[in-house]
Formats: sequence, structure tokens, C-alpha cells
Amino acid sequence: MKECLYCKIKVGGNPEKCPLCQNALTGEGEMDHWPKIYPDTRRRKAFKIVTFCVIAACILSVAMDYLFLKFEHLNFSPVVVAWLLVTGWLLEVVLKRHYNILQTLFVSMITISFLCQVTEIFIHFAWDVPNLWITPNYIIPSVCAVCMVAGIVLSLVDKRLTEHSMIYTFLNFLVGVIPWIVIMIVNSKAPLPWSICMVVNVLILVAFIVFRGKKVLAELKKRFHTE
Ligand SMILES: [Zn+2]
Repeated sequence: MKECLYCKIKVGGNPEKCPLCQNALTGEGEMDHWPKIYPDTRRRKAFKIVTFCVIAACILSVAMDYLFLKFEHLNFSPVVVAWLLVTGWLLEVVLKRHYNILQTLFVSMITISFLCQVTEIFIHFAWDVPNLWITPNYIIPSVCAVCMVAGIVLSLVDKRLTEHSMIYTFLNFLVGVIPWIVIMIVNSKAPLPWSICMVVNVLILVAFIVFRGKKVLAELKKRFHTE
């Protein structure tokens, strides 16, 4: 067992330095108590490349918009920069595995929907294009339906996902169904994409309940702290 001459303690395993004072340990080491963790250099490198590419693309788009063009500025760079930053951020979320897959899907869905809406409003005001409300009418229901489908496919591939992140499927379901209910109450007729999205969400939630009933119940209990 190794020993620290300064702290007068014995240290198990085979560390180089004393955990208390960081001085070198003396004595014979023994088998490591836990496996050595090596930093994932490949992922770190990918992370650095993504960061650089995003920043470089931001600089280039601003330069093209304001420095290189001789004619009137188009003011497109704020939108491009926003999209680049968000895309870079999402890539980093995936690379660093901050969230599990269902969580990443949900976060991506919300972020992309939000960004689409911001872009639409920006285009409307900056270039005087009539606002067509493409995001709320078409993009959000489509993205929501696609995420719900991706969610169940992923859960079938990896069963652990259902256990730990069903909550994101529920949230996805709420995003897919609540707007439809609100539109029906206000307008009594919902646009087709929202109706399709609602049906897809309901079908997949039913599939989850039928095929993963116990896990769904367990997740609900866990989330509402009844267990
Ligand atoms: Zn020490």
C-alpha cells in the first residue's frame, strides 16, 4: 500500500499523488481499485473541430454580409449566425452526451421550432416579406410528429430509454396535442398538419402504453414521486 509521508496516511490502489496534499506517494502500489478513466480524445477533437467550424462560419457570414459586398447589405448574417450557433450547440450536446437520446430529441425539437419562428419573424421585418406563419402551421407539427416517431423507434431499439426518459415522450405528446385542442376550441377546425401530428402522437402514446405499459407506469410514478 502506498503512503504519504506528510499526511501520515495509507492510500489504497496505485495513485501517483496523495489525495489530500498532492505530494508524491512512497511505497509499493497495489492493483487499482477502479478502472483508469482515459479522456475520450477522439470526441474532444471532434468537439474542437465543430467549435472552430461554427465560429469560422459565423465570422465569414458576417464578413460577407457587411464587409465584402459593395451593394446594399442584405442583413442575412444574424439569421445565419443564430442557426450556426444553435446547430453547433446541438452537435456539442450530441458529442458530449449531455443528455440521453430522447432528451436530445425533445430539446432539438423545441430549439428548432423556436429558431424557425424567430427566422420567420426576422425575414418578415427585415425584408418586408409577408408573414406566412409557416412555422406554427407546418414546421412545428411536422417536427413534433417526426420526433414522436423517432422516439418510439429508439425505445424499441434500446429498452433502457423507456425507463429513464419516457417523460420526454409525454412532453412531446403534450406539444403535439395541446395546440390542436386549443385550435379546435378557438377555430373549431384545425389545419391538416396539426391534425396529422395529433393523430400520430396519440397513436404512438397508445403504442407505448400497450407495449411498454409497466415502464410507462413506473416512469409516471417516479416523476410524480408516488414511489
Ligand atoms: Zn499527503
